[in-house]
Amino acid sequence: MERKIAVIGMPFDAHSSYLRGPAEAPALIREAILCESANSCTELGIELADQAGITDYGDIAWADDVEAFSNLEQVILNVAKSGAKPITFGGDHSITFPILKALATQYTQITILHFDAHPDLYDILDGNPLSHACPFARIMENELAANLVQVGIRTLNTHQAEQAARFNVDIHPMRDWKGPHQLSLSGPLYISIDLDGLDPAFAPGVSHHEPGGLSVRQVLDVIHSIDVPIIGADIVEYNPRRDINSMTAMVAAKLYKELCGKMLMNE
Ligand code: MN
Ligand code: MN
Repeated sequence: MERKIAVIGMPFDAHSSYLRGPAEAPALIREAILCESANSCTELGIELADQAGITDYGDIAWADDVEAFSNLEQVILNVAKSGAKPITFGGDHSITFPILKALATQYTQITILHFDAHPDLYDILDGNPLSHACPFARIMENELAANLVQVGIRTLNTHQAEQAARFNVDIHPMRDWKGPHQLSLSGPLYISIDLDGLDPAFAPGVSHHEPGGLSVRQVLDVIHSIDVPIIGADIVEYNPRRDINSMTAMVAAKLYKELCGKMLMNE
C-alpha cells in the first residue's frame, strides 16, 4: 500500500470550557509549517517536501456544531478507507471523539497515546458530555480504543481517577516521568497531542496554563521512540489568542513534521 497522509484542519472550539480561540488555529499552524525560517526535513531524515503522498484536505466546513462533528467523522472515514492516515490540527480536544469513531470502523485493538496536562475523562462537564474535558470518557465507554496511554498528566482529581480505573487507563503522571522507556505501546497506534501537555514555558498559546509540564524535546523523544504503525494523529488546543510571537504555532508545526515523518517511516 502506498504511504499516504491526509492533512486536515479543524477550526472548531465550541466545546471549550474556559476560553475560545482554538478555532483560529489551523491557518496559523499551516503558516508555521510553511514558514521559511525552517526547512521541511525531519530530525530522522525524512524530507517532507519530497513526499508526494502528503495531501492537504483543507479545513472542515460546517453549518452548526453538530454538523462539525459528523463532517469531520465522514472526512476521516473517507481518508481511512482510502488507506491514508489523517493528521488533524487545530480545534479543541473534543474533536478526538469523532475522529476515533471513524477510525474504529477501520481498525481493531487501537491504542491511543495521549499527551495532556489533563486526563479529559470527565463523564460530563458544565452539562456538556461532548466537552473538551470528556473525549476520552466517550471513546473508552464506546470501546473505540482497546488501550489508552496518557503522558504529562498533572491534574488528576478524584472523579477522573475513578474514571481512569473504570477504563483501565495507563496514566504516566508528569511527576513520575522518566522517559519513553516507561511506555509499552502496541499498534495500531493513534496519537493525540493536547499542547497543554507541554509546559506553558514552551507552549504558552493554550487556554489552560498548567505549569510543570513536558518540554518539546521530551515529546519528540517519545515520538522518535515509537516503533509500531501509526494510524493517525491530532494536535489540538492551540489557542492563538494566548500565543507569544507565534512560538506555540511553531511548536505545533514541529510536532506535525516529526509525526508526519514517523507515520511515513512506521508502516
Ligand atoms: Mn489539556
Ligand atoms: Mn485535552
